[in-house]
Amino acid sequence: MNEETTKIPQATAKRLPLYYRFLKNLHASGKQRVSSAELSEAVKVDSATIRRDFSYFGALGKKGYGYNVNYLLTFFRKTLDQDELSKVALIGVGNLGTAFLNYNFLKNNNTKIEMAFDVDKGKVGQEICGVRIYDMEELEERLRDEDVTVAILTVPAGAAQTITDRIKQTNVKGIMNFSPARLNVPPSIRVHHIDLAVELQSLIYFLKNYPNGDTEI
Ligand code: ATP
Repeated sequence: MNEETTKIPQATAKRLPLYYRFLKNLHASGKQRVSSAELSEAVKVDSATIRRDFSYFGALGKKGYGYNVNYLLTFFRKTLDQDELSKVALIGVGNLGTAFLNYNFLKNNNTKIEMAFDVDKGKVGQEICGVRIYDMEELEERLRDEDVTVAILTVPAGAAQTITDRIKQTNVKGIMNFSPARLNVPPSIRVHHIDLAVELQSLIYFLKNYPNGDTEI
């Protein structure tokens, strides 16, 4: 993200990719403008929040006109650095890691997994969906050489911190951590923690305790 986004609240920034994906589809279908009510229905975010979010982008909707789709798309593309391909590496090619390699992130945004790593010598040297699996011994060198800035961690919890400590020596700025381990990182690295088991448990808890869907998290 570029400097402009530092002024945008984090909650708003998190919704950017959602808006971006929807607007790209609108644009592809030839639509020139969109109202906050239409957007709200499509992305399931209330329209007051959308109006507030969009005011941070300098996009002022006009009554009876809505928002200019082209303006918003240009803004999002610039803000999300869509014109620059972010290089991503995946570490740990187990069940989950393999699924990510098979999933084509490029379909929805300008992100591509460039390379994968594993300790398992049986996996090293293989390719999944065109992505080569390298030996962990080559981790730092390859991440640096290819200027990889994002790492996806799909390793067992016990291995996550040691790998993170190695990643610190490279240009990686962001880690998507799918392991249950909480990671210690310097302020220069941002971690998004996605524990699928916890998310599932939390969903089930809410279904049981808020059966009418009256609480959104
Ligand atoms: P998943 O958790 O994705 O379902 P799994 O059950 O097949 O995968 P795990 O034991 O969770 O296997 O390990 C995930 C992957 O991480 C495996 O391919 C394993 O070889 C790899 N792995 C384990 N330890 C390390 C490590 N220290 N460095 C890199 N890769 C590792």
